Amino acid sequence: MERLSALGAWREYARVQRASGRRIGLVPTMGALHAGHSSLFEAARSNGDLVLATIFVNPRQFNDAGDLMKYPRTPELDHHSAEQHGVGCLVEPTLEEMWPDYPNPTATTVSVRGISDTLEGAGRPGHFDGVASVVAKLFAVTGPCRAYFGEKDFQQIAVIRQMVRDLALDVEIVSCPIVRDGDGLAFSSRNVLLSPEARARGVALSRALRDVQKTRGCASVQRRRMREVLEESGIDVAYAEVVDPITLVPTGDDEVGERRALIAGIIDGVRLIDNAAVFVEARGT
Ligand code: AMP
Repeated sequence: MERLSALGAWREYARVQRASGRRIGLVPTMGALHAGHSSLFEAARSNGDLVLATIFVNPRQFNDAGDLMKYPRTPELDHHSAEQHGVGCLVEPTLEEMWPDYPNPTATTVSVRGISDTLEGAGRPGHFDGVASVVAKLFAVTGPCRAYFGEKDFQQIAVIRQMVRDLALDVEIVSCPIVRDGDGLAFSSRNVLLSPEARARGVALSRALRDVQKTRGCASVQRRRMREVLEESGIDVAYAEVVDPITLVPTGDDEVGERRALIAGIIDGVRLIDNAAVFVEARGT
């Protein structure tokens, strides 16, 4: 496994690989790698791509300094895991190279209006500007590639797809299913911050989603049901929404069809998110 950190070397590496006929499968991460990340490495590899993974804890997407400080970092384990899962090149850019002006703002920010303002964006102002800006930079340095993202961060994929369309970037976005632990909790780097008791309560997120997948009803009924399941487990609900999977516009009670349920809850100060495909029926049917 090749290991790089300088932007120039990374750009050149990707260029040389493309020139020799390989397609780059870019997998952006913030490290503290787990089974969700490895599923993205495996997906890229099984598509025949040369897997180029990045690890960068991007301070610009944290709207809360405490959250950034306690974000888990496990570099040694990450190197091992990346190697085990077929990563061809692991890039760990430095803060100085990614954001030379940090902590001052950069003059240029990528902001995907509308879709960034709801759900996670509503509770975490500036979060998606930080995500879009860093992902745009990862794409700019890597060059034409396929880029793999997990549906765990469903809104993030919607924001990035919109950015790729609007800026005509030469990147094909591949979305990959959510990987869950045995008890249903979606893998997340933040899970290690949960006490055993909080972790057990966190299982309510996936339970709420499974519950509405089985519940017949309109969007309001499904929203209410998810909220109930979360609150019964003492989870502080940030949102429990049912939306259009592309535009993320909230679903009306007269609509019928496949939609996406998204939830966010805070347990002992740790924010957890999850989502699933659901089917809504019109009210009164
Ligand atoms: P992160 O390191 O949290 O920024 O995540 C890096 C990538 O891994 C993102 O595309 C996430 O959506 C994806 N990811 C994180 N957790 C999971 C999971 N449980 N299942 C699938 N993908 C995931």
